[in-house]
Amino acid sequence: MECINHAGKMASGTCQSCGKALCTECANRFSPPLCEGCLLKNNNNVTTKLISDVAITVIVCIILIMLLVMKGGVPINESIPLGLFLVGGWWGWQALSDDTTPHIIILPTQGASVFYLFKLSLAMTIGIFVMPVVMLLRIIKIYQINKLKREVLTGKA
Ligand SMILES: [Zn+2]
Ligand SMILES: [Zn+2]
Repeated sequence: MECINHAGKMASGTCQSCGKALCTECANRFSPPLCEGCLLKNNNNVTTKLISDVAITVIVCIILIMLLVMKGGVPINESIPLGLFLVGGWWGWQALSDDTTPHIIILPTQGASVFYLFKLSLAMTIGIFVMPVVMLLRIIKIYQINKLKREVLTGKA
C-alpha cells in the first residue's frame, strides 16, 4: 500500500480514525497517527466544545446577574460578584470531579449529604479561582488548534 499523501512511498501505518494508509513520516506527524482530514475534523470538534464551554459560562453568568437584579432586587454591584461566584462554583465542582477519582462514592444517606455539602462549599470557594484559569486554558487551546489548522492547510505542519 502507498501513503495517501506521498505517491510511491510505502505505507507503514494507518490513520487511527479512518484507516487510510500513511508512510512513516505522515504517521509520525500527529499523535495519535491521523490523516490531515481526520486531524482537522477531530480538532474542529474539540474547538466547538471549548467555545461552547466558554460561551455557556458567559451566557449563564449574564442570565444569573440579570435574574438577581431584576427578580431578586439585588443591586448590580452585588449581583456581578454573586453571579460570578455561582458560575465559578460549577467549574469548581468540575475541577473536584476529575476522571481520576471515582465519581460515585457510596455513603450512608447522612454521610452522603455531608459529603456533597462539603464538596459544594469547597467547589464554591475554589470556583472563583478555578474559573478564570479554566477559561484562559480553553482560550489558549482554541488558539493553538487554529494555529495548527492554518499550518496544516498551508503545508507547514
Ligand atoms: Zn483519517
Ligand atoms: Zn506520507
